[in-house]
Amino acid sequence: MATAKQELGAWGETEVAKKCACPSCKRPKTLKRLPTNFKCADLICDFCGYLAQVKSISVRTLDLMPKQILGAAWGPQKERMDAGIYFPLFVVLKAPTDFAIYYLPSDFQSPALFAERAPLSASAKRAGWQGFMYVLSAVPDGALVRLL
Ligand SMILES: [Zn+2]
Repeated sequence: MATAKQELGAWGETEVAKKCACPSCKRPKTLKRLPTNFKCADLICDFCGYLAQVKSISVRTLDLMPKQILGAAWGPQKERMDAGIYFPLFVVLKAPTDFAIYYLPSDFQSPALFAERAPLSASAKRAGWQGFMYVLSAVPDGALVRLL
């Protein structure tokens, strides 16, 4: 059974796929969800092959962008950054009665956006696993564009 966090993630990806045109080829409804175990991206455009990540977060109000959002595994992210690879990111804010979709092009991403977290403690279910945070406060002003 999916956890609440996985359900929120799946919901956000579906909303972006339904409502946002592909940022690259500009076609509507071409963004498709990739399988959950596909590591580097969440959506692919089935016309031009464009890849994007989607991060969804529950918020109390849409007025304020969270300073940080929980990312994924640090290891693969670090390897991609070391190789100079960045993926465009959709951020979906889910408030109790409404939601918003923001877009952060890879052009405005830098290593400062990705903060390494401490590995999980020995008593944790996934002991030793290490994640990262998206530090949205490190993004240049105006780089996160609200689409919806
Ligand atoms: Zn496209």
